[in-house]
Amino acid sequence: MASNEKTLTVVALGGNAILKPGQEGTAKQQIENVNETTKQLAKMVLSGEYKIVVSHGNGPQVGNLMLQNELAKEEVPSHPLDVCGAESQGFIGYMLSQSLDNVFNQNGRGDIPVSTVLTQTLIDGDDPAFDDPSKPVGPFYTEEAAEELQEEKGYNMIEDAGRGYRRVVPSPEPEAIVEKEPIRQLLAAHTVVIAAGGGGVPVVREGDRLVGREAVIDKDLETEQLAEDVGAEVLVILTDVENVYLNYNQPDQEALGRITVDEASDYLEEGHFARGSMKPKVKAGIEFVESGGKKAVITSLNKVLEALEGNTGTTITK
Ligand code: ADP
Ligand code: MG
Repeated sequence: MASNEKTLTVVALGGNAILKPGQEGTAKQQIENVNETTKQLAKMVLSGEYKIVVSHGNGPQVGNLMLQNELAKEEVPSHPLDVCGAESQGFIGYMLSQSLDNVFNQNGRGDIPVSTVLTQTLIDGDDPAFDDPSKPVGPFYTEEAAEELQEEKGYNMIEDAGRGYRRVVPSPEPEAIVEKEPIRQLLAAHTVVIAAGGGGVPVVREGDRLVGREAVIDKDLETEQLAEDVGAEVLVILTDVENVYLNYNQPDQEALGRITVDEASDYLEEGHFARGSMKPKVKAGIEFVESGGKKAVITSLNKVLEALEGNTGTTITK
């Protein structure tokens, strides 16, 4: 492929690209993980075949920021969830862009520009999700503390799988990316862009103003919106499993290779994909291909090039 015809590809990084299960989340751990992650991303760029936009999750990071706010609230005013989301995009974007710069430099390609765009995502203030807050965020609380927060701050608290009480917030659909134009301009200038971290900060339009909302947009659905907005050919969702499976974790589980949108939609309806984890990834893949994208690939981080060549992973096409 000629170098001026690079395939524009949007890549979503899963939680384990930044923090591994069981790690406490020191800055050092996260930078080390990010350094492994960017080696894989750099392979795509250095192959000369792909132009990339990278998005990422922020669940554990925003949870830790919320806990810091909670513990220090007598000393320093605590920040609401939208501000914590912006903070997490900032520090994760810092780590990813510095680390990518470093790999490019090590490969004699210090000329490739990298930039993080702090992203706001427009949502509908009347999204039905606001009537049914379901996404757990932040630290676990005792029953008494949960009741206090419910009364004082109006938080919605639920019991989470016997592990304690947690705040739940709405998870509305992304409608548009506020920074779409600057992202497109950076891409036109051959920049590797990091954007839409943690699903973007949810904002609503009130008259002629944008206002932040305490909600969480699913990062896979948000990444799909981003892929549509920049006119990407390929959407890649990187997670901690190499394939999407039918009958996942059952004796008859079956890895999916190349499937059509129709097959993917049938499997989705049959309930093969768990809510909040694999379901939004498959849904994102379906929406992307239906909106004109060439293919959506779901695989693990270290298999990205093999999967793009069609040799592993799950690929959804028309
Ligand atoms: P990420 O941070 O990458 O978004 P998630 O935990 O949200 O990670 O989603 C990946 C997880 O989805 C896998 O670790 C797996 O346990 C789970 N999963 C649920 N259903 C399936 C399925 N049908 N096939 C593969 N993985 C599945
Ligand atoms: Mg997820």
